[in-house]
Amino acid sequence: MPDTFAPPSIPTVPVTPAVLDGLRAIVGDKGLILDEQGKEPFVRDWRGSLVGTAAVVVRPGTTEEVSKVVKLCYQHGIAIVPQGGNTGLMGGATPYPTHSGIVLSLGRMNKVIEVDPVGYSMTVEAGCILQTLQETAASHDRFFPLSLGAQGSCLIGGNLSTNAGGVQVLRYGNARNLVMGLEVVLPNGDVWNGLRSLKKDNTGYDLKHLFMGAEGTLGIITKAVLKLWPAPKDVATAWLAVRDPQAAIEILSEAHAASDDNVGSCELMSRAGTDVVLRHIPGVQDPLKADTNWYLLLEWSSSRPKADGAEGMSEKLEHFLAEQFETGRVRDAVIAQNEAQARNMWTIRESVAPASRAEGGGLSFDISVSTSKVPSFIDKGLKAVLEILPSIRPYPLGHIGDGNIHFSFMSPVGMDRETLRQYAPAITRAVNDLVRDMAGSISAEHGIGVDKIDELAHYRSKIELDTMRSLKRALDPKNIMNPGKILRL
Ligand SMILES: Cc1cc2nc3c(=O)[nH]c(=O)nc-3n(C[C@H](O)[C@H](O)[C@H](O)COP(=O)(O)OP(=O)(O)OC[C@H]3O[C@@H](n4cnc5c(N)ncnc54)[C@H](O)[C@@H]3O)c2cc1C
Repeated sequence: MPDTFAPPSIPTVPVTPAVLDGLRAIVGDKGLILDEQGKEPFVRDWRGSLVGTAAVVVRPGTTEEVSKVVKLCYQHGIAIVPQGGNTGLMGGATPYPTHSGIVLSLGRMNKVIEVDPVGYSMTVEAGCILQTLQETAASHDRFFPLSLGAQGSCLIGGNLSTNAGGVQVLRYGNARNLVMGLEVVLPNGDVWNGLRSLKKDNTGYDLKHLFMGAEGTLGIITKAVLKLWPAPKDVATAWLAVRDPQAAIEILSEAHAASDDNVGSCELMSRAGTDVVLRHIPGVQDPLKADTNWYLLLEWSSSRPKADGAEGMSEKLEHFLAEQFETGRVRDAVIAQNEAQARNMWTIRESVAPASRAEGGGLSFDISVSTSKVPSFIDKGLKAVLEILPSIRPYPLGHIGDGNIHFSFMSPVGMDRETLRQYAPAITRAVNDLVRDMAGSISAEHGIGVDKIDELAHYRSKIELDTMRSLKRALDPKNIMNPGKILRL
């Protein structure tokens, strides 16, 4: 986290009583939150380390209302912070302390407009909770693959705006790959209707990709057409104790063919990360008592039901693990025998973020390198960080098949947040320089927001930054749409 939550220069036009009346006329009293206690969850980030302010939280119920609110703000030059479920980890959804404008929350726009099981698509409003969309797809015997730890509270508009990743990227790609069309309210309030359910559409610039990953700086996503897949019918989940990260990527590399291309997820965990979950999350069981530093959560899934007498995913996985045991890559392994055991394995993986929040201060870097370089990155990165602060407690984990590691560290025992902060700049530089030297990315899936604004400026070329600024100025000439996030203008 940055030392101070100090903003770059952003518009400071206040919400006058006349503008407030205008907002009330658009969304009604039910769509406005004015009291400090009611606004509090909207001006504080998920980690609780950034706290900003807003004159009012506006909660429109339709695209038309979003458009009218944005038009009013555009006319007056009032800044807007779009917000979904507020689970973002980079501070993109949190207004700055100097923010004098509004937070625009999409939470009331939560309708599933249409499910087309034959065409494998679903059209939804931006305020739908991700898990609700997964369940909606399942109720039509279809699968919406986006899946991440915050899925019970993040909203699809936020997922698309951060181009979220999660645990199914290996097979289905990240959020932008799951979208056929978008509807977006532009910074001047105009509505761009790109809600097409087309798999092929080569008609000039593909505008939807501008808004995905833009973290609300170029417009407000109000609806989306999402792609669906056949529902999984035969799933095998295993927890493996592995020799080291090199063994982990070799196992994954061989798993594709062994599973008949049915690898769904492959998540790297460390002993320290597992222990932090066991310490803080009640009811979680350690799947293996194996004495190793590294674990893999491996899931194979097929849309074809297991036929009587035929080998299913579980049997194939069992043979594969036996072979991997012979190579020395796998030290021990357990295949979930029922839904509860599989759920327990996933709970361990998905609870690392809340458990580490409960543990106290720490540092985490969401980075990517090409998959084959992950072991070398972990090795060199740990050496570099431990040289700066030998008592820091590493617990690297992540979506190893995507080359995406959450390079995470708990504070040394007994060290307070302020002391750790003094080490943060040197550690950040060491980690991100290594990422650059290995041709990786300083943000794999969480985005830039506030947290990495200076890092982006440091590592991206002038030509890339200038092109991004040109796009921002062209679409948002008054700089009212989530100003001061991603880029300093
Ligand atoms: C426990 C936990 C686990 C997580 N795991 C993962 C993971 O595995 N992979 C991953 O990628 N992320 C993960 N995240 C981060 C976070 O959940 C994602 O970034 C998520 O996509 C954010 O969605 P949200 O609705 O909460 O967005 P918010 O936090 O509300 O907003 C995020 C950004 O998008 C903008 N925005 C929100 N809605 C809109 C909209 N409709 N139109 C335009 N801009 C908008 C905001 O201004 C902000 O810049 C995790 C977070 C937590 C807390």
